[in-house]
Amino acid sequence: RFSEAWKSRTLTTSSPHQTDFPDPGRATNFIGGEFVASHATQTLPVINPAKQQTLYYVPETTNDEFKTAVNAAKAAFPAWRNTPVTTRQRIMFNLQQLIRRDTDKIAYQITLEQGKTLKDAQGDVFRGLEVVEHACGMASLQMGEYASNVSSGIDTYSIREPLGVCAGICPFNFPAMIPLWMFPVAVTCGNTFVLKPSEKVPGASMILAQLAMEAGLPSGVLNIVHGANDTVNNICDDKDIRAISFVGSNTAGMHIYSRAAAKGKRVQSNMGAKNHAIIMPDASADATLNALVAAGFGAAGQRCMALSTVVFVGDSKRWEEGLMERAKALKVNSGLEPDTDLGPVISKSAKERIQALIQSGIVGGARLVLDGRNIVVPGFESGNFVGPTILSDVTSDMECYKEEIFGPVLLCMQADSLEEAIDIVNKNKYGNGASIFTTSGVAARKFQNEIEAGQVGINVPIPVPLPFFSFTGSKASFAGDLNFYGKAGVQFFTQIKTVTQQWKDLPNQGVSLAMPTSQ
Ligand code: NAD
Repeated sequence: RFSEAWKSRTLTTSSPHQTDFPDPGRATNFIGGEFVASHATQTLPVINPAKQQTLYYVPETTNDEFKTAVNAAKAAFPAWRNTPVTTRQRIMFNLQQLIRRDTDKIAYQITLEQGKTLKDAQGDVFRGLEVVEHACGMASLQMGEYASNVSSGIDTYSIREPLGVCAGICPFNFPAMIPLWMFPVAVTCGNTFVLKPSEKVPGASMILAQLAMEAGLPSGVLNIVHGANDTVNNICDDKDIRAISFVGSNTAGMHIYSRAAAKGKRVQSNMGAKNHAIIMPDASADATLNALVAAGFGAAGQRCMALSTVVFVGDSKRWEEGLMERAKALKVNSGLEPDTDLGPVISKSAKERIQALIQSGIVGGARLVLDGRNIVVPGFESGNFVGPTILSDVTSDMECYKEEIFGPVLLCMQADSLEEAIDIVNKNKYGNGASIFTTSGVAARKFQNEIEAGQVGINVPIPVPLPFFSFTGSKASFAGDLNFYGKAGVQFFTQIKTVTQQWKDLPNQGVSLAMPTSQ
């Protein structure tokens, strides 16, 4: 009954403005093309962070149910890998159209469960949609290579084949984009997939599963299991799963990377970040300050590419005042309210953690330029809100600098030269993104060459590449060697087979046991 109630509210309502789940139900798993109720005795609440109100529950999928999902993916693989790539692409063409049709519905579900503003949630869907669009060109992306007459009468060619059953484990901060980084690429390559959404925000994945079915994805090609650590460990240990895409924190990511690798799986693991912006005194002031405020506080700082640290070089320090004025003007409210700039952070414990890190900065000697703690949003008094916060005079030994805060907190540091600023960034353990704001090509080029970060912005605050490139975090922000989407994403979800063939009239040359060499 609960499963049906939940489905009818989130999956089949065409109006994006649905009820607020007055009767919390239980989400279903999605196995073999069916939305199936779990028999789990343990459940986890999905909570609207603007109200701290339980929307519904997700089951902690049992071991048997998990294996049923893997078996469904395994059973679907032989027919799916032999389905022409053009057919697989056409299903992605359908899917991108359906995602466009239902963007508002998915975005509403994201805002309800995750808290970000509706506009930002639409962006979350759109950035995922772009990966679906890219997967529509899989026939070219998956092509192998051919070398003719590598030896007399011998040609060699390589084929990129799907791996089999692959899995994805998702974080809470992009409920649509990150599942869409994973399964569209994997399945269009010919794999089948088991997705574990974040237990905090599973609704968008469930809508996407329904759209994938409507697009024509055969039963069993995409499966969804809910849960937390136990389900993740099942994914790491399962002998039928060949590859895992993970996005989330370093604690979980490194655990999954080592546990799954020990079982012979390939893993791509995108993890935490501390993204810096270096501000040169010659930068264009207005545009830079607007970019810093948007990238620092958008999505309440809960983006892995959020700008969390500003390094003012020389004179640019005087812009701190302008930064504070702009940040102060931002509207904090429920993401469903019009004109909201920042919604709540994901949970009570996230709010407590963010506030503790702010406090540790103050105790450590940082100057509190703008204090977003203790904010109360009328009508949403129980929500997990933190207002824009700016700490200045931050040094690299402070806890608030060493830890990823993942909230609307901007740290300001000071450097006398570009060299010193680059040195600060390079000493940080993370390497997701870094940006420079300048009008000097010389400074920009030096920054691009010397900075140790995977994604570099030059007058661009959040340099996340579109899907024809890859998402290229580095250092502690990434484990593995093939990044998400783009060419690397296709390589991750395929294995190479190299064929050497000889077609010629073979003269009888007798038997030679020597190692064959090119003739
Ligand atoms: P999280 O690590 O808590 O959860 C991510 C997934 O891992 C969830 O599905 C969760 O169930 C599972 N998980 C969590 N702890 C686990 C454990 N101990 N054992 C097994 N599984 C576990 O991350 P989150 O809080 O949902 O997301 C925020 C983090 O994700 C931030 O660190 C952020 O920087 C990072 N992130 C990185 C990128 C990127 O591309 N680099 C993108 C988005 C988010």
